Amino acid sequence: MVLKMAFLSVHSSPLGLMGGKDTGGMSGYLLGLSDALGNAGHRVDLYTRAQDRGGGSVQSLSSNVRQVTVDDGLGLLGKNKIYPHCETIAEALLQQMRGEAISYDLIFSHYWLSGCVGRRISSALNLPHHIMFHTLGRAKNESCPAEKEPLERLAEEEKLANEADLVVAAARLEKERLLDYYGLCPGKIALVPCGVDRSLFSPGDSKQAREKLGFGVEKIILSVGRIEPVKGFDLLIDAAALMPPEDNTRVVIVGGDSSSMAGLAALKERAAKAGLAGRIAFTGIIEHHHLPVYYRASDVTVIASTYESFGMVATESLSCGTPVVGGATGVLPELAGSEAAFSPVIVAENRDPAAWATAIRRACLLKKPLSADRINKLLAPYNWPDAANKYIRSLQTAE
Ligand code: UDP
Repeated sequence: MVLKMAFLSVHSSPLGLMGGKDTGGMSGYLLGLSDALGNAGHRVDLYTRAQDRGGGSVQSLSSNVRQVTVDDGLGLLGKNKIYPHCETIAEALLQQMRGEAISYDLIFSHYWLSGCVGRRISSALNLPHHIMFHTLGRAKNESCPAEKEPLERLAEEEKLANEADLVVAAARLEKERLLDYYGLCPGKIALVPCGVDRSLFSPGDSKQAREKLGFGVEKIILSVGRIEPVKGFDLLIDAAALMPPEDNTRVVIVGGDSSSMAGLAALKERAAKAGLAGRIAFTGIIEHHHLPVYYRASDVTVIASTYESFGMVATESLSCGTPVVGGATGVLPELAGSEAAFSPVIVAENRDPAAWATAIRRACLLKKPLSADRINKLLAPYNWPDAANKYIRSLQTAE
């Protein structure tokens, strides 16, 4: 059966630059999953809003996949300004759908704001509504005191999870969290992991990569992500500060655009106070297709987030042959597996900087790049064609 699906990504364009304030792993997920569904013969339209009046467009992205950018007349709206306008945005999307006379089989909303728009569309068109939260406000707030997601988000997420026909999670821990928070029936949650583009993220000559980036013989500790408190870069800085000078380490933090200046300034100040000033670099956003050279040049990638719903950076790093140190969040415990002691994914059980320093030092001792066999085995479950199959199969069981 060939399906026609409308995916909603209201607050951020799937084609936006990843690593900025509001654009990250969710865009990778939307592009990867829709591309694989399109290749399998299904049709996917990715709906997003135009950030300028008159900026509506329809663009073909890949086989059977289009991005439909809808001008809802509201112009530039930051993520935090969208919620009161969900009704207007839903109306504009409905008008676009009706104008093209496309009849979809389902609406799949990404992030809670899209969910608030998607529930209106699905009820107007009498279609099933699927939701993937990507992050949960409650999990952010509970894991990271500096994050203050509004009560309306928490309430809407609970309502959306209960009302939706299907809730999609990318990692087992996220599925467990959904069960725990909302008491959903397990059959209502589909586990559809993120894939990783193995042809882009591939092992390569580490020496050449280092030369290209101007690194010397020091140990490179890489961290990649949006500059947000939940990403835990403060813990990485505190841990790096505890590593002895003879370790000769350099921390490289990738991510952050012009809207991340305050966060970046705070991290720089923390690093300077910790005596790391000469041993840390902040690169700002690096375009996604330029990231493999960073992973190849690094001895370890650290994911210090207090919470990840998946953590795509982990699979990207491993795919380039670089070990990972992170907390027990997202896909990391799954990747570490039961033989954790021998895994190139080291999971720290608490947020004690000294324990993280030890884990990072341990990871730096691993032979790099990791063996191809090892990587292939670890990453086998994380590919987009399998993810697309899992999603389609879950529709059959959700019916
Ligand atoms: N990313 C990027 N350039 C940057 C920073 C991040 O391309 O400067 C990408 C990164 O490669 C990954 C995504 O943004 O694919 C972040 O996804 P992740 O699941 O780690 O975190 P999220 O953004 O979903 O919280």
